[in-house]
Amino acid sequence: MSAVWAAEGLVAGVPAGAVLRSAVFRLSVPSDAPDRTSCPRCAAPVPRWLVIRCGQCGQHFGTLGALELVTALVLGLLFGRFGGQPDMLAFCFLGALGVTLAAIDLSVQRLPDRLTLPAYPVLIVLLAVAALIGHTEAALGRALLGGLVLAGTYLVLALLRPGGIGGGDVKLAGLAGLALGWLGWPTLIAGAALGFILCGVASLALIATRRLTLQSMISFGPFMLAGALLAALAGAR
Ligand SMILES: [Zn+2]
Repeated sequence: MSAVWAAEGLVAGVPAGAVLRSAVFRLSVPSDAPDRTSCPRCAAPVPRWLVIRCGQCGQHFGTLGALELVTALVLGLLFGRFGGQPDMLAFCFLGALGVTLAAIDLSVQRLPDRLTLPAYPVLIVLLAVAALIGHTEAALGRALLGGLVLAGTYLVLALLRPGGIGGGDVKLAGLAGLALGWLGWPTLIAGAALGFILCGVASLALIATRRLTLQSMISFGPFMLAGALLAALAGAR
């Protein structure tokens, strides 16, 4: 882990989080509903960028600074791990997208196709460029296979247990599989397992503190992303 790169990631994460805030605000709506463009309290129109508080009624949109802080933390860790390497851009892209998706999933329990599907070509191109620069074509092949394997696994789980794992989780799993597969099969297996372990631990803690019942739905996306992040940070190269 490079401390200089990590510090740069922390600094870059704050403005990046402020930009992501706009996407989180607009897309935190139920599926099929139009984008949110007005204040939920007074219905005043909200500007396209810098969605922090309503200019009319003063309502804060989301916890002040939370998204910026999490983005800074995630980018700090990813810069520290991948800084100066050909695959840095791919992992930072997925990290920033992951923060956005996790925030939306926690808010409205969905992972919008409008974010996950266009991310596939972007991530594949970034990894392909990294493979060309670093002469790691084998890693690219493994990434593509990893994406298929993880999306396929989640698809089976979604079919076995409808209502648990959703279609959005399947599409996110393909993206996580691309990134984890790039780093190697042990990293992919560890990342996938960690997602389920983290979700299980959090569910038990919430049930124990009576903030969740056995019938409650819990957003799985943030756990899948956190598991993938931990495995990517720990994975050997
Ligand atoms: Zn307002």
